[in-house]
Amino acid sequence: MSRPEAMDRVVNLAKRRGLIFPSSEIYGGFRSTWDYGPLGVLLKRNVKEAWWRSMVQLRDDVVGLDAAILMAPKVWEASGHIATFTDPLVDCRSCQERFRADQLPASGACPKCGAKDSFTEARQFNLMFKTFVGPVEDDASVAYLRPETAQGIFVNFPAVQTTSRRKPPFGIAQIGKAFRNEITPGNFTFRTREFEQMELEFFVPPDEGNKWFEYWCAERLSWYTDLGIPENHLQLRRHAAEELSHYSAGTADVEYDYPWGWGELEGIANRTDFDLTQHAKFSGEDLTYFDPATDERYIPHVIEPSAGADRATLAFLLDAYSEEEVRGEQRVVLRLDPRLAPIKVAVLPLSKDERLSPVAHEVSDALRQGFMIDYDETRAIGRRYRRQDEVGTPYCVTIDFDTLDDRAVTVRERDSMNQDRVSLDKLVPYLSERLPR
Ligand code: ATP
Repeated sequence: MSRPEAMDRVVNLAKRRGLIFPSSEIYGGFRSTWDYGPLGVLLKRNVKEAWWRSMVQLRDDVVGLDAAILMAPKVWEASGHIATFTDPLVDCRSCQERFRADQLPASGACPKCGAKDSFTEARQFNLMFKTFVGPVEDDASVAYLRPETAQGIFVNFPAVQTTSRRKPPFGIAQIGKAFRNEITPGNFTFRTREFEQMELEFFVPPDEGNKWFEYWCAERLSWYTDLGIPENHLQLRRHAAEELSHYSAGTADVEYDYPWGWGELEGIANRTDFDLTQHAKFSGEDLTYFDPATDERYIPHVIEPSAGADRATLAFLLDAYSEEEVRGEQRVVLRLDPRLAPIKVAVLPLSKDERLSPVAHEVSDALRQGFMIDYDETRAIGRRYRRQDEVGTPYCVTIDFDTLDDRAVTVRERDSMNQDRVSLDKLVPYLSERLPR
């Protein structure tokens, strides 16, 4: 199966099994917006949870934050978004389609209608969504949907630093929605106008910027490989000097080998003291840090690993998808890391027989305390295994008639399809051992 085929099959599976489907579909959809269904919401939550666990829970130098999406408009003046958060937009005079000038093919032909040299002059288009706060729609009530979560962290730097009593190097992590009025959304959930970011702003003494930039590049790459993305599908692309933003002392993208080519999963930047300096200037507040140990006052430098939850979820799905033949039949398996799998354990009574039902419910009640489970008693057992395989459920627990006598169940593992007979009183520890957090 080629990579583009894998993409089609993942999109198809996502729709068929309630992972991800087009938004507002009963109204014909709404321009590249997607909804995460019952299994998709679990998968994406697990991706975010894995990020939070590695960035906040397992570290003593990072704290969390959940800032508002709507912020004072001055924030976006200070950050530079109002003036410069733009993409160059061109129209094709022949078919009227719009494109990003920096993404046009070298041939100069319109990607839609093929017309040659048909583009208008590029004009800068601001990607921020504008709205109005309160009942009056005038200039004074304009507000923006945040195009990144980072600014919520910068403006809260002094409040978080003092209340959590941290000193640099320390970080503030946040997961939340961001909005960009992208000119050309597409490639499924890769580029959408509403998406979720997982961002860390790591504040360090000025002379430690480079060291921490390298640290976070290595750390973030290994997060993806640890969760199952093979090394050959990942690369760290360091930006050349002429590609760097004026404030950046170093930027690298973690790129993934998507079916259409290498694309950004995450950007890691050494932002120097740019953000805090700008906010100090525009707000008039003192955003320096005073280090009593050295008697020095400084504006911390910031290292920012900024990842997209939707792009990561798509990458995990693409790499997990596999098809194989088992005893002459095709089997689709999502080989997701168990930590990411939407359902951890499926409870499957062999049949709907009323003698099996009480013990099957007893098992599911015990398991659901610790794991996300699915209970399924319809259709042949083989078909039910296949249904669980294609959404990546690591373990299936089958209750059969022997269970009534021996108080034991059959546990089947997704990848090897090996089966173990496990006594009911050992079932929770058996699964806990095999389903790491
Ligand atoms: P691109 O060059 O692909 O437009 P970017 O460099 O503008 O991305 P950043 O501003 O660095 O992206 O945002 C950090 C992360 O947020 C990206 O690596 C990506 O995972 C995610 N992200 C950004 N824009 C989108 C989008 N339109 N849809 C989905 N995720 C996005």
